[in-house]
Amino acid sequence: MKPLERQKIIVDMVHHHDVVQVSDISRVCQVSEMTIYRDVQKLEQEGRVQKTSRGITALVPEQTGSDTCAYCQKPAGDRLSVQLVYNNRSQEKTCCGHCALLRFDEKSDEVVQMIGRDFLLDTTINVRQAVFVMNSSLPLFCCSPQTLVFQRQEEARKFAAGFGGSLMNFEEAVPFVRQDMGCACRSSHT
Ligand SMILES: [Zn+2]
Ligand SMILES: [Zn+2]
Repeated sequence: MKPLERQKIIVDMVHHHDVVQVSDISRVCQVSEMTIYRDVQKLEQEGRVQKTSRGITALVPEQTGSDTCAYCQKPAGDRLSVQLVYNNRSQEKTCCGHCALLRFDEKSDEVVQMIGRDFLLDTTINVRQAVFVMNSSLPLFCCSPQTLVFQRQEEARKFAAGFGGSLMNFEEAVPFVRQDMGCACRSSHT
């Protein structure tokens, strides 16, 4: 069985049961628990499953409770929002990639995962490995500099070809939003 087949089975299992044990998965896939641990680690990095003290569970963004941006306190919708997962297992939501980067900047030591949605494909992606399009001309009326996330360079590049904006990776995008003094998104909350 190929790794991708196993990972599909793992994702299916956690979606059908609340909690799944590594030993159960290893029995179903007929490979060692060590192999399953590696698969789970990969899926966790992709933001598709979560390791908890009870076992492996699906990530359920709705469990965050609050739909207010953890950085600027604006309402956080689903399309642009980014979820931050901390090392104490608490979670926060931000209205968009802009606030996610600034929140990360404040709490970088505690952030274990950042989960967002590809702006075009609407798939769940790991924001730490995303491609960012900054300051496109698409009027979305969230924060400035506008920050959109894409899973792959190819879509980001095509998007920027039509709507403008600069492509960056995570390491470039954080200082970019930090240095931009034009954003007033948090002015009433500091
Ligand atoms: Zn915000
Ligand atoms: Zn925003």
